[in-house]
Amino acid sequence: MLTGRFAPTPSGRLHLGNVLCAMLAYLSVRHEGGRFLLRIEDLDIPRCPRALSLQAIEDLQWFGFTWDEEPLWQSERTQVYQQHLDNLAKQGLIYPCFCTRAQLHASVAPNLGDTQFVYQRTCAKLTADEAARLAEKRAPAMRVRVPDEVLSFRDGLYGAQCENLARDCGDFILRRSDGLFGYQLAVVVDDALSGVTQVVRGRDILSATPRQIYLLRQLGYPVPEYIHIPLLMDADGRRLAKRDRDLDLTALSRRFTAPQLLGKLAFSAGLLPEERPATLEELIRDFDWAKVHRDDMRLTRSLTQQ
Ligand code: GLU
Repeated sequence: MLTGRFAPTPSGRLHLGNVLCAMLAYLSVRHEGGRFLLRIEDLDIPRCPRALSLQAIEDLQWFGFTWDEEPLWQSERTQVYQQHLDNLAKQGLIYPCFCTRAQLHASVAPNLGDTQFVYQRTCAKLTADEAARLAEKRAPAMRVRVPDEVLSFRDGLYGAQCENLARDCGDFILRRSDGLFGYQLAVVVDDALSGVTQVVRGRDILSATPRQIYLLRQLGYPVPEYIHIPLLMDADGRRLAKRDRDLDLTALSRRFTAPQLLGKLAFSAGLLPEERPATLEELIRDFDWAKVHRDDMRLTRSLTQQ
């Protein structure tokens, strides 16, 4: 059965970009009579206080979204992630990495712009004895080995994508040195165990998808359909951020009704020919991916004008 989900990271109040993502994921599966799930990605517990997660759930309910199972909380699932890490370790794919942030920056060649580096496999060359000695001094992160081959997939909106993980990404971290599991592992484990067949999310995560497909394959899980959606910009073309307090739902829900906001988002996305209030039921009925814009979407000025 077609199963979709919305998986917010509640490190701040939801903003309209999150709601747009929830809306498209929701309309896509409900239009086909499919299941919809909610997952709270609060892996990074210190940054994702419970109150913000509960607030996100309340916000989604205010819009009228419903989900077919109890929400999944990633903060409660570390054992499940550890089992999957062990599975990969048994396949010889995991190794401990003791590099500090400073060492990483000093030793690796910048590859993917300013913030991303391809790890040079320094710690993959350690002997078991060397690793054991280092482990007495500091806890390692756990990295997964990636193959030197091209991985391709088709995105529902952005079409054919391919990446060579070894060349473009490098061995990546599945568990940090502080014990927190990385997003890439948690997301694929949860999607697979929840039976998610369609992943709709922002195009900022498109570049992480080859890593996730690789993990799914190594774990023997099916690969879902991926549909990455354009980002929502403010009326001046800037990306929405958690700092835009006037666009968070505390402020917006005082000034607008849920159908008014859904109508504005649906209009920005291309689902309505004019800006007017709309209910989820109406949007479900008329939903069609063919109408959804591929370019980043701009919100109308009516949202920020008092
Ligand atoms: N938790 C991620 C976010 O809020 C989304 C993860 C996903 O949809 O795969 O950006």
